[in-house]
Amino acid sequence: MDPRRIAGLLDAPGCRRRLAVDVSGVEPAVLAEAVGAPEGGQSPYARERDGTFAQLALARLPELVLRHLGVPAEAVVETDELPGGVGLWSWRAPKLRLGDVDVTVDRVLLAGDGTRLHPVEIRSYACLDGHADPTKVAGTARELAVTVAALRQAADDPAQVSTTSLLVLPRNFGLNPVGTTLDVAPQLRRLRWVLDRLVSGADRLAPDLAGAQLVDALGQVPARFGDGCPSCAVYPYCRGDAEQSGAAARAGATVANLCGPVGVAADALALAHGERPPGDETEQAIAAELSRAAHAYGQAVTRARESA
Ligand code: SF4
Repeated sequence: MDPRRIAGLLDAPGCRRRLAVDVSGVEPAVLAEAVGAPEGGQSPYARERDGTFAQLALARLPELVLRHLGVPAEAVVETDELPGGVGLWSWRAPKLRLGDVDVTVDRVLLAGDGTRLHPVEIRSYACLDGHADPTKVAGTARELAVTVAALRQAADDPAQVSTTSLLVLPRNFGLNPVGTTLDVAPQLRRLRWVLDRLVSGADRLAPDLAGAQLVDALGQVPARFGDGCPSCAVYPYCRGDAEQSGAAARAGATVANLCGPVGVAADALALAHGERPPGDETEQAIAAELSRAAHAYGQAVTRARESA
């Protein structure tokens, strides 16, 4: 599994279906075909631009690590093991693991200050006037946390790998690299919850499933539809499933949280309108909350019509 896939689990906490897919290592292309996902991937132009930026950023890394991490280095040196000392290294296809899960990374860049190693990450989304898209930065921070966790497992002393990382991005709309430090300690703490479940492997699917068999198996694993779903590879299937079953969660995490255990939208509406008696104290509380929300919505609509 690559760090992006493991980090994606932090996007959808509590969804056993997503965990099952990722733990099982079902091939993304096989999954996409089974659930009818559109072909992904970058355009050739975007790939070429990314490659050009990565080359430019690599050439400027010594200057950036000195400025932001205080690490002096002449050039990026190739390594095939966790390095030590002072310098800047590129470790291609490192063999990393988290628990019993292989973590596949094309390359890890590391800057060492003599006591600690700092991961360095080059990304091609823009840093506009000193600010990058916070959603993209948050995604990168989650992936870096996975890399830090895996490097710590590979190190004799886990404390040798710092959570303070250097993120390198293109400045504005050009290809000039700028650096900023990113502490991924909070993401690392959240990762522990995911890792415990990854290792236990609950709801693991057979990795050789494909097509209708894979879809059937997906349907057997409970899902938790929420705000992180659009970034999930299973999204087309779960969206259809939620629509077909009339799930309240299809309207987003806020509605899902409001409805609690009342998972079907029609049931929630019937409770809100007093057409269905609450089954227990929890449903009673949900009915009162929904009825308040329906009343407030009705008032807002009436006011909007009057002022139109
Ligand atoms: S899209 Fe489906 S599998 Fe993915 S996180 Fe959402 S509910 Fe879970």
